[in-house]
Amino acid sequence: MISASDTTNNVTLPTSDLPSSSATAPTTATTATATGHQGFLSGFADNPFFTAGFGLLGVGAAMTMLRRGSVLGATYLQRRLLVTLEIPSKDKSYNWFLQWMSHCAPRRQVHKLAVETSYRQHDNGSITTNFGFVPGPGIHYFRWRGAWMKVERQRDGKMVDLTTGSPWETVTITTLARDQQLLSDLLREAQEMALEKQQGKTVMYTSYGPEWRPFGLPRRRRMLDSVILDNGIKERIVSDVKSFINNSKWYNERGIPYRRGYLLYGPPGSGKSSFIQALAGELEYNICILNLSERGLTDDRLNHLLSNMPERSIMLLEDVDAAFTKRAQTDQQGYQSMITFSGLLNALDGVASAEERIIFLTTNHIEQLDPALIRPGRVDLKELLDNATEYQIRTMFLRFFEDRSDLLDTFVAKLRGHPISTASLQGHFVYFKDQPNKAVEHADMLWKQ
Ligand code: ADP
Repeated sequence: MISASDTTNNVTLPTSDLPSSSATAPTTATTATATGHQGFLSGFADNPFFTAGFGLLGVGAAMTMLRRGSVLGATYLQRRLLVTLEIPSKDKSYNWFLQWMSHCAPRRQVHKLAVETSYRQHDNGSITTNFGFVPGPGIHYFRWRGAWMKVERQRDGKMVDLTTGSPWETVTITTLARDQQLLSDLLREAQEMALEKQQGKTVMYTSYGPEWRPFGLPRRRRMLDSVILDNGIKERIVSDVKSFINNSKWYNERGIPYRRGYLLYGPPGSGKSSFIQALAGELEYNICILNLSERGLTDDRLNHLLSNMPERSIMLLEDVDAAFTKRAQTDQQGYQSMITFSGLLNALDGVASAEERIIFLTTNHIEQLDPALIRPGRVDLKELLDNATEYQIRTMFLRFFEDRSDLLDTFVAKLRGHPISTASLQGHFVYFKDQPNKAVEHADMLWKQ
């Protein structure tokens, strides 16, 4: 080998010295002639450059074989000894795993972190921000249940997830083959951890391109008791929804699309959204909110979104009047979004889907809605949530000032003839939360604001 490479080094003669054709042997070729080769072949053999080249070829081939051998050997060993799991960013487990790793992998073993900020706006307008640290792009090693794991988070610079616009990413977890079982344990633990976070909470989804994404952190479930509607309304809607959920067989047997539509209408601040949240909490459902006026919303996207809602969720189309007033009017004005009225009707009818669908529409102006939108079959139950009735005023008052029923009649009398929303009423009681007498005394603040 060494002599061969020496030969290589020796082949540095100037081109003028090169032998012309089959080359008469120069001095160093005498050894080759001594091997006894004849004629044409011996001509090659006698050529020092040819033998040098041949040696070189041999060395090259040997090196290549060695390299291939070692690569094959390494691959073989890797196959036998290691196991690799790839999770693309499209997969649900992707975020579960990153979250899990940020909580469960020992902090000191993960050096490169990336921040995931989530914020939540409370009913009173304040905002809570949370900074979650997850492993950043790169390679991380950590030990879990006695096994070493290598985690590689890769971001593809060229490929983009077209639905979200974010760079395509993958996480690859490698561990010893004998610890393979740990990978599924790990994913299960990550999933349980993610679901546990949602337990007792309502997840609000919003549309992001053609898919649904959780919006902010899951919210604590709202209790039905906390929403005070006029006598009987709550019970009517809750029992209707529950009977719908329990009757899938009835719908299937008759080939009727398994869907039910509800319309809550009335002035702003009468508890429409709050009630839907509380209902979702009661049913242990999540909520998908869609704004029909959203720019770029097309018929196809709307249909796709409605046909691909996350399981156990209520579809909420808020303020439908803003996107679609009477058809004639809309035609003149054009649409903010790109959906057509018939596209909305088709999507609501749900011809494309046999999945359970509970759809809530809300509006402050029922009179502006096209009758086709709210005909039976599309909207099966309509309920007016109006300004506070006497029943609501009394119930809300007692929720804030339990032991001051003596003030009730005076308060109710003062409010007579003044339409007050339940939202304003709530604001008033919060303002005077420790002063029931003042709440009554200053009742006129409710309409003099
Ligand atoms: P809407 O959707 O009808 O405009 P919201 O549900 O958004 O009204 O209500 C706004 C605020 O007022 C919320 O903080 C909610 O708690 C409160 N609120 C309004 N109506 C009621 C009600 N009937 N019972 C309890 N709280 C209410």
